[in-house]
Amino acid sequence: MRIVYRNARDPFDGSLRDVCVQDGRIVRGPVRDSQVVDLRGAELRPKFVDAHAHVLPMGLDLVRPSVAGCATRSEVLDRIRDGLRGLARGEWLIVSGYDPDRHRGEPTLLAADLDRLSAETPIVLRHASGHGSVVNSAVLRLAGFTEQTPDPPGGSIVRGRDGRPNGWLLERANEMLRKHAPKEDVSTMAEAILRACERIASMGIGTVSDMMTGYYDLNRELQAYKEASQRGCPVRLRLYVQWSSAFGPRSRPDWIETLSGADPHRCRVAGIKVFADGALGARTAAIRGAYEGQDAPSRGWSGILTYRPSRLREMVRRASEEGWSVAIHAIGDHALDVALRAVRDSGVPSRHRIEHAMLADDRQIEQLAELGCFVCAQPEFLADFSSAYRESLGLERMARLNPLGSMDRAGVRLCFGTDRPICLGEPWTCVRLAARRPEGFDPNEAVSESLAYRCFTELSAQALGDRDLGHLRPGAWADLLPVEAAV
Ligand SMILES: [Zn+2]
Repeated sequence: MRIVYRNARDPFDGSLRDVCVQDGRIVRGPVRDSQVVDLRGAELRPKFVDAHAHVLPMGLDLVRPSVAGCATRSEVLDRIRDGLRGLARGEWLIVSGYDPDRHRGEPTLLAADLDRLSAETPIVLRHASGHGSVVNSAVLRLAGFTEQTPDPPGGSIVRGRDGRPNGWLLERANEMLRKHAPKEDVSTMAEAILRACERIASMGIGTVSDMMTGYYDLNRELQAYKEASQRGCPVRLRLYVQWSSAFGPRSRPDWIETLSGADPHRCRVAGIKVFADGALGARTAAIRGAYEGQDAPSRGWSGILTYRPSRLREMVRRASEEGWSVAIHAIGDHALDVALRAVRDSGVPSRHRIEHAMLADDRQIEQLAELGCFVCAQPEFLADFSSAYRESLGLERMARLNPLGSMDRAGVRLCFGTDRPICLGEPWTCVRLAARRPEGFDPNEAVSESLAYRCFTELSAQALGDRDLGHLRPGAWADLLPVEAAV
């Protein structure tokens, strides 16, 4: 198919030009025998690129109950009660989006509260950050978590004053539930991916990155992504495989083969994902200093490093030696120090990415610029989780979160992601939030709207290793937003 868009306004520099498309790519004109569409100065835009999302989890969550937006504790309990109705025997009730910091003055839900709704049906109420859950005693029983169970490395089984698990499972302890929960088969996963991508495509996003492939079962997930792609998934899929699924003791050396047969332009593995810490709302991000608020598991609590620093360095080096780009999740400033060291020691720092870096200080920002790695930021967090940040960090530390302005001035390479499903992830909302930070956040840390837009298109594509996406220069894929939506 050949088509020429005449008088198309370039969204990056505002200039008017003709954009020629042939066989799905933007080409240098002129193109003979082409259909001509005169845009008369309307903007022609590339589709957005979401550099950090969770695609399969989003699809699974779309058919599960959520308590996101519940204003009170009793509303949360009502939703769970509703969710319990109509559940098949043996099924678990998994509910997402619980943010106790939104319910100031109300006690955080514990296992005992969930047991009052059902002590038999396993109930998992996931924290809004995705980095912890509160579960009922049926789940604690199935997982074998008792008073005697030690905390796993990189995780916490939170205890009450009586020393018994109170229902809260953080990080590694939370992830250990996967072993016990019923597992989805490949076709259910493929359906979920397609369901998520329909929603993602409807927001004008043409490429999305899954940042946790292998969380459930690498082989089945890769099969599901391939199947979704072959069934016409409307979004290009870029997968970051969890380090342990790719290199851990139970990994298969030929895991990458599972994707063979998929069109790599539509679906491919883009890198390896590794966690350095948790999240601020769950008080598991590894910070310097201590957390505030009632929900810190203990006095002076400063979060959790997922791995010992030397182990993280070794993991990054290993993946790096095999030629992968590594995306390191590091939210807290303490975790960021560990991540920076690992990136530097890899020998190819500019190939890697750091996810979030929300508490980066000036010295760390300098180092990020010097190393040349990407920082993938989530501007929407500031709007969605401001109460959690205020409660966990206090107003002063909260104000400087996501210092994108300083990063830009220092020359850090930025790109954006949404972290859906924990945020809605509407790209224009994210662009606006990066350019105009919500109240309570230092306005000097905003970036220009044009940089924010590039962060969600061209720069995100670069972070994924896609030089031919996110812009309209010759050679790019013609992933174009419908012109009506662009004007
Ligand atoms: Zn994420």
